[in-house]
Amino acid sequence: MNAHSVRGERRFSIARAARIVLIGPPGVGKGTQGERLMRRFPQLSAISSGDLLRRNVRERTPLGIRAESIMNAGALVPDSLMIRLILGELRSRRWITGSTTPLTLSAMTAAPSGAGAGEDHADSFATGLDDAGVERLQASDDPSASFILDGFPRTARQAAQLDSQVGINLAVHIITPISIILDRVCHRWVHVPSGRVYNDTFNPPRIAGRDDLTGDILTRRPDDDPETWTRRLKKFDDTSRPLLEHYRRKKVLWTVEGNSSDEISPLLFAEFERRFVALSS
Ligand code: AMP
Repeated sequence: MNAHSVRGERRFSIARAARIVLIGPPGVGKGTQGERLMRRFPQLSAISSGDLLRRNVRERTPLGIRAESIMNAGALVPDSLMIRLILGELRSRRWITGSTTPLTLSAMTAAPSGAGAGEDHADSFATGLDDAGVERLQASDDPSASFILDGFPRTARQAAQLDSQVGINLAVHIITPISIILDRVCHRWVHVPSGRVYNDTFNPPRIAGRDDLTGDILTRRPDDDPETWTRRLKKFDDTSRPLLEHYRRKKVLWTVEGNSSDEISPLLFAEFERRFVALSS
């Protein structure tokens, strides 16, 4: 293996571009797995669609202004906006190359998927698609163009649009029994100012109900209750089926199952290494 050590932790070099999506219900630990992958494989970076959207909302870009009310309503942002956002980001990082011709949203023929249907207006987001939506983008195969997408694609249509521009070469489906996810999230406490998260069962604060560093009182997220979570998990189950089917058909779907992130990570690392890390010569 092409590995070296930084402060006792082994790190590996990627031999070819890894273009990864993590698929799993809320609470399954996708963020944790993404962070662990990036620590172990420093050439990897993550792009979170939720973070990108929130940045656009904060910066009051035309796309952010449109997305804000949709996000506040808990609906999905239209596929056409999402694909533009993600491709624009991939291109700004030079992981895909293509024309920089700005595109008006009205040139996209795609039907929106959620609230805001039919409201497409011109904005300044460029994706490299030409006015007829013809592909003009090229994904880099350089290992440094390796990425993990978090939160995107969320629908089969987003997946198909992404694949038509940038071939995803590993879709990781993370499975944990629903009873365990419910147990985990319903025992969760947060320190809102820092984002530190505790759990009564496996990561309790030193003093019950208090943040370890500041001593502030911990709170529960308003939506961390079993009914809300059962609904969210069921919704994920319904919407993820066509997405998983898309990647199964493309022969890039790999499923991993475990009761905790610690059980899942070694399996994920081994699969990642098998696919993307160079064997030493
Ligand atoms: P997240 O941080 O991933 O929970 O995303 C926050 C919100 O952003 C979601 O509730 C959606 O409104 C929107 N969003 C994020 N990713 C997507 C996506 N792939 N497709 C549509 N809407 C999205």
